[in-house]
Amino acid sequence: MLAVDGGSPLLAGNGPAPWPQVLDADRKAVLDALDQATPWHWPMRTVTELEAAWAEFTGMPYVLAANSGTAALHMAIAAAGVEPGDEVLVPADTFLASASCVLQANAIPVFVDTDLATFNIDPARIEERITDRTRAVVAVDLNGLPADHDALRAVTDRHGLVLIEDASQAHGAEYRGRPVGSLGAMSGASLNGSKTLSALGEGGLFATRDEERHRLARRVLMFGEELPGQSRDYNARMMGWNYRIDVLAAAFARSQLTRLPEMSLVRQANGAALTRALEGVPGIRTPVVPEDRTHVYFFYPLLVRPEELGLDDLPVAAFRDALARAVNAEGLGIMRWQPQPVPGQTLFREMRGYGRGCPWSCGHARPGHHYDPAEYPVAEEVCLRRLVLGQSFSSFGPPNDTATMRRYADVLYKVLVEEREGLIALTRRTADSAR
Ligand SMILES: *Cc1c(COP(=O)(O)O)cnc(C)c1O
Repeated sequence: MLAVDGGSPLLAGNGPAPWPQVLDADRKAVLDALDQATPWHWPMRTVTELEAAWAEFTGMPYVLAANSGTAALHMAIAAAGVEPGDEVLVPADTFLASASCVLQANAIPVFVDTDLATFNIDPARIEERITDRTRAVVAVDLNGLPADHDALRAVTDRHGLVLIEDASQAHGAEYRGRPVGSLGAMSGASLNGSKTLSALGEGGLFATRDEERHRLARRVLMFGEELPGQSRDYNARMMGWNYRIDVLAAAFARSQLTRLPEMSLVRQANGAALTRALEGVPGIRTPVVPEDRTHVYFFYPLLVRPEELGLDDLPVAAFRDALARAVNAEGLGIMRWQPQPVPGQTLFREMRGYGRGCPWSCGHARPGHHYDPAEYPVAEEVCLRRLVLGQSFSSFGPPNDTATMRRYADVLYKVLVEEREGLIALTRRTADSAR
């Protein structure tokens, strides 16, 4: 019997290990940073070590550690020379920060629909959204799978746009042999505790090949000032914020980064093992991994397909919610992520921005911008049908291994195959209560 109907949970007492994995090396790194960090000074050695290590890992010569991925992306948008009213293309299905970093520069996010196979921005849909105000494209490596950066680069080169990589969900993955973080002219990555490279708390990394962009991004990071100089002159050259990373978070991330290559291999193997184990289980589509890139499964996204169980007469949403309830009750964390495309969020739909309609109404943007999620049918379909495993609650990272993945598969097999009648009954009850 399904656990949601009173049966015993399949993973009772045998659930996955949480993410991130904390080892003695990480504890020592944080304690060492504690001892080195007084008196307060900037930049701190631990922070410059993290920056140097990410530069080496990505091959991007200029790196700045920031206090969030959102901050790192804002630095990239500003360093791209994006000005008020300029337009930046952003995938319709992503986390808010990939788009709000554009608003932070008083510029206008313009959304692009999703590729149904990879869940990343569809390179074929970029050109139709380009205007004479477009300056940049933000390409997100969603779920842990790099976007099609060569196809994107071909478009951005043709139109003189800056390609910015949002690497927040895919540290450790590769595209055509190149590491995530190095795939655009600049990249911003999150080190939030849940991410595949984790600061445990909060953090971010900005990277570029260009010295001038590095200088601009550093001004944004520290009050608009020119730093570090011999003596600080307290003269803001431009708008800047305080985006400095916490030193203890930097120490933890630095320590984790030394293990990122091996952790990424474990993640790839785990995701592949789960996909193999779920082959032939009806009602769900497992993730697609093109031959030319690797997937590190920050999320393991499933698309629900009730049609495969003959449930064409019931709403997809009822099946999705019933499946999620049943799987969670068995002890496997699964959830909805981003229930709608970003342009459907109130901030965009009602064009609230900074209030009084800014930046859309500030006089610098071209008139006529509007946001309607229905213009992104693939992203809407993905948001309707998507459930995700992964992140911290059903992690694909070590110490979880292929035996853990076997247990994940057992839960889905129990719910979708062995106890299918129970799931169908739960779907009908869910649909009835929504009426
Ligand atoms: C997490 C995330 C961010 C934001 O990072 P924070 O460190 O939480 O500010 C940006 N983009 C994507 C795709 C993310 O997943």
